[in-house]
Amino acid sequence: MSDPQRPGFATAAIHAGQEVDEVFGAVVPPVHLSTTYAPDGIGNLRNGYDYGRAGNPTRTALQTQLAALEGGRHAFSFGSGLAAEDAVIRGLMRPGQRLVMGNDAYGGTFRLFDKVHSAWGVTNVPLDLSDHQRVAQELDHDDATLLWVETPSNPLMSVTDIAALAEIAHARDALLVVDNTFATPYLQTPLTLGADVVVHSTTKYIGGHSDVIGGAVVLSDDDLAEKVAFQQFAVGAVSGPLDAYLTTRGLKTLGVRMDRHCSNAQAIAEHFDGHPAVERVLYPGLPSHPGHELAAKQMRGFGGMVSLQLAGGEPAARKVAEATKWFILAESLGGVESLMNYPHEMTHASVRGTELAVPENLLRLSVGIEDVEDLIADLDQALAGL
Ligand SMILES: *Cc1c(COP(=O)(O)O)cnc(C)c1O
Repeated sequence: MSDPQRPGFATAAIHAGQEVDEVFGAVVPPVHLSTTYAPDGIGNLRNGYDYGRAGNPTRTALQTQLAALEGGRHAFSFGSGLAAEDAVIRGLMRPGQRLVMGNDAYGGTFRLFDKVHSAWGVTNVPLDLSDHQRVAQELDHDDATLLWVETPSNPLMSVTDIAALAEIAHARDALLVVDNTFATPYLQTPLTLGADVVVHSTTKYIGGHSDVIGGAVVLSDDDLAEKVAFQQFAVGAVSGPLDAYLTTRGLKTLGVRMDRHCSNAQAIAEHFDGHPAVERVLYPGLPSHPGHELAAKQMRGFGGMVSLQLAGGEPAARKVAEATKWFILAESLGGVESLMNYPHEMTHASVRGTELAVPENLLRLSVGIEDVEDLIADLDQALAGL
């Protein structure tokens, strides 16, 4: 039975934070560009707004929408995914503490932790998150206060057990943060699985059209929210109103886009699994993927990201990366258009030579929502050219 207090995902995506404007009846709320707000007399704020770094109604609308979709009580919209991550680390940790993280996290995340936060005094311990005993051992140290999980991971598509790691972290008074960028709240809601904090690069699927950089933090605990809010206010890495508007507009169609991303990615993974030029297809939707059963349990679909390891090694990967028509060779992911990435030299160049380095024969595909026959034919012709 449908309950108006608990709308489904698509209903919430379209209506949360999008009340009809009371003055003109505008169905799409206006974009509020003003940086400052006149109080009704000194100290008498109208609806709590005084200055744009502290709050903006267009940003509030996006935050309301994000909180509703992730099942959190508080959401914060940032100028980028990395700005959101920075606010989590510096808002919720202190110099002298350390964080435990997956050894195949997004390269930019590792660079932020390793080059910026370590200079601030927060160190990191990257390890294989499927080794739960090792994770528990690291978190047994009193100064290890935060566990950072990215699942599915970028670009190796490994799947991490959120509920199990939440239990391990909480038994040791550590916080569990999940980067939910790849899955999106449509496919996975980490807060309902026990995570304390969700972060997003909204630049990817949530914005969905490769035209706006942004990030988000979503959480339910009031004390943690206050710390993130203070960090955001004090540092100022907020999203601008036009960016917040574009992100809200993208988020409204997330569900229909993800359905197509998932079905296109599944078809591509199945088609190229066993292809003579392809050594391995990394996609959690394939039963042969080591994380398949776990993904089927904790996700509501397997997502739109597929990685291919080519039999011909680095030269083959480089050649195919430059030989597609519909798959555009570019960084980023999660847009309606298909993108091809060679992580070793593009998105993950910053982790070369570290233990987070990615295989040289790996191509990462962000499978778009075009006609899947066109996408398969495009990859087929590129592989045939080897
Ligand atoms: C892109 C990305 C980020 C960083 O987000 P920006 O919006 O580029 O700052 C963080 N995590 C993952 C998984 C990403 O793909």
